[in-house]
Amino acid sequence: MKKLLLLCVFLAAVNSLYSHTSSEKDNAVNEKTLYGKLPDGREVYQYMLANKSGTTLKVINYGAIVTSLTVPDRNGKLEDVVAGYDSLQGYIDGSSYFGAIVGRYGNRIGKGQFTLEGKKYQLTVNDGENHLHGGKIGFNKVLWTAKTVQDSAGPSIQLTYVSPDGEEGYPGKVMLSVTYTLTDNDELRIVYEGTTDKTTILNPTHHSYFNLSGSFNNTILDHLLTIEADSITPVDKGLITTGKYLNVTNTPMDFRTPTAIGARINDPFEQLTFGKGYDHNWVIRNYSKGKVRKAAEVYEQKSGRLMTVYTDQPGLQFYSGNFLDGTAKGKGVSYQRRTGLCLEAQCYPDSPNKPEFPSVTLKPGEVYHQTTIYQFTTK
Ligand code: BGC
Repeated sequence: MKKLLLLCVFLAAVNSLYSHTSSEKDNAVNEKTLYGKLPDGREVYQYMLANKSGTTLKVINYGAIVTSLTVPDRNGKLEDVVAGYDSLQGYIDGSSYFGAIVGRYGNRIGKGQFTLEGKKYQLTVNDGENHLHGGKIGFNKVLWTAKTVQDSAGPSIQLTYVSPDGEEGYPGKVMLSVTYTLTDNDELRIVYEGTTDKTTILNPTHHSYFNLSGSFNNTILDHLLTIEADSITPVDKGLITTGKYLNVTNTPMDFRTPTAIGARINDPFEQLTFGKGYDHNWVIRNYSKGKVRKAAEVYEQKSGRLMTVYTDQPGLQFYSGNFLDGTAKGKGVSYQRRTGLCLEAQCYPDSPNKPEFPSVTLKPGEVYHQTTIYQFTTK
């Protein structure tokens, strides 16, 4: 009997040692699994990153897409807060840029045209007469090369894409690397670095659709949003910036204090009519090249989840998922209108044609750099 008891104690000790080691290992290791194959046979992999508190991030090397991000609510319950499809085919066919890195140019360039060093360029047009999010085959529709990297802040993965000279009409061969780190403080940190061999333009962004409630059956209209901006860059009917600035005071674009997204979204305000809701660039205060500062905050009261966005970019596109119409499906839901919101750090839309806006020109020998952080806490 005594022997049996001793054996049980021994086995329990071994078991606890084993499970401890295994969970520690899970927290430190990036799991890599085959996610699917492209029509030409190339393999796409999914990488799972888990930090010390159990928060997880899944990324595929097609489009550098974030396919899942589970973060705790105020009771510690982990739920997925980003929209996504169930398989590679969804991402290949989809047109909503779910979770992707958008490039070379985030948002629109009027008529897809611009002039650089005296030379005119015509990009592909894929949004009426305009160029949107890098064109027909943007960075969201190509295969990237992935490698895990060491970062003391948490598990980290770097994706690289080499965009050939002339791709989608853009000059120069551009090399872009995007490093996703899931820090132990529950931050999704995205660091971009780009170079070119000819003068070009570069303005990539990240396009996750967030819903902090834990279910995409809910809209984001009750999420409370704060944006650190006193003005937006207003647009015309085709959603091309006019080159002017619009002060947000006394308008439904004023998110200087926490405000429900749905509170004024249907107001008869021309900018909201043009955007079919919020689909605008906010001019984030205190821009200084390379300086990361707070840009926005989103709070969902029932779950207690709070997402804070930090970036070194001059602008932030707040898109309230106006064009989601139930066609895109995944994770057990059809994504209905306004069930996800995007906060896309960027330079202002159509800046290559607006000399008064900060420049997106990148020259050989220069390094494009962006840091954007989505931090998750609860209250
Ligand atoms: C743009 C929208 C566009 C959407 C595509 C957003 O970043 O601002 O106008 O329709 O991306 O899903």
